[in-house]
Amino acid sequence: MRDERGKLLGTALYSSASQIALRLISQEPLANDAELISLIRQRVTQAVAYRRQLLAAATNTNACRLIYSEADSLPGLIVDRYADILALQALTQAMDREDIKHAVLQQLFTELDGEVVSAVERIEPRIRELEQLPPASSRLLSGTKAATVYGLNGVRFHYDALAGQKTGAFLDQRENYAAAEAYAHGRALDMFCYQGGFALHLARRCDSITAVDSSRPALEAAEQNAALNVQEALPEIEWMEANAFDLLKDYSAASRQFETIVLDPPAFAKSKRSLDAAMSGYKELNLRALKMLPPGGILVTCSCSYHVSETAFQQMLMAAAADAGKRLWLLEKRGQARDHPSLLSVPETSYLKCFICRVV
Ligand code: SAH
Repeated sequence: MRDERGKLLGTALYSSASQIALRLISQEPLANDAELISLIRQRVTQAVAYRRQLLAAATNTNACRLIYSEADSLPGLIVDRYADILALQALTQAMDREDIKHAVLQQLFTELDGEVVSAVERIEPRIRELEQLPPASSRLLSGTKAATVYGLNGVRFHYDALAGQKTGAFLDQRENYAAAEAYAHGRALDMFCYQGGFALHLARRCDSITAVDSSRPALEAAEQNAALNVQEALPEIEWMEANAFDLLKDYSAASRQFETIVLDPPAFAKSKRSLDAAMSGYKELNLRALKMLPPGGILVTCSCSYHVSETAFQQMLMAAAADAGKRLWLLEKRGQARDHPSLLSVPETSYLKCFICRVV
């Protein structure tokens, strides 16, 4: 890759289909595939070393993102570890190459000597379509084990490597689970609970938990996760299949109150065009939640839409608080866990917002 004056800019991976035709992989020229593969192996080693250092002090956590695309200078590649299983996602034509996936896995198995036994490839059909890659299904790439149990902050979860959303769980929320737990008290409501990430952490401090999702399979997995943690003598968790918007309306009509509420909806703004509708969705949720919180109540509110900036999210929350007639302390402005580092020069690598507020 060269600039208009012929000066070398570096080496990039090319996609014939994406809006992003070139993704920089090195500032140096690379002569051939062998050099590319060797560079990729080095990057894998560095990525693993950072997570090892990061998680050395984490309590009972053996799941994390090992490779985060541009942030790890491996654009288009995601690898998450769930205990002894690796989950790989190739998001570009280049990273979908069998020789590259093979080299990545080989290097990971070397680095994680004996700690992992299987690897699966997770398919996002929409991304394959955008990259004009042939349709494929999620599958085992190495080993035979496709289910395991992993820990996040001492909470145990089942992992079914060939089911669920993303690579299986929302590992980007791990540090936010622990932060939310530190403030949680009383009656808790976990809206958009998926497999129970927040709910199971809140349960360690709260008196009762209601956890809501519209996906039946997610709630079934959540219930199994709760059963894995019975030794902790957690309070009963009520898992409810419902549409969050409808349920919040019913709850406000019934004047329900909670001391702790988590809102972690799916990305409402998948593109810039849907931003206005997304913002009114966030505002409605936050307004209704705030109305149910008494003084001292805690709101943990998230957005994983890259297109919703932190400033826009904060303004939405201010407007929701004003409409609800509540004054809020903004206790913490958080983002994705540090195993998903943001690369300053690629703002898209920073997408998760998680604000923790207290009603004054
Ligand atoms: N908090 C979860 C992640 C939530 S992801 C965790 O930390 O693991 C968003 C979830 O919202 C998904 O599980 C999806 O099934 C659910 N969802 C999407 N639309 C919904 C709606 N209208 N009402 C309730 N749940 C919804």
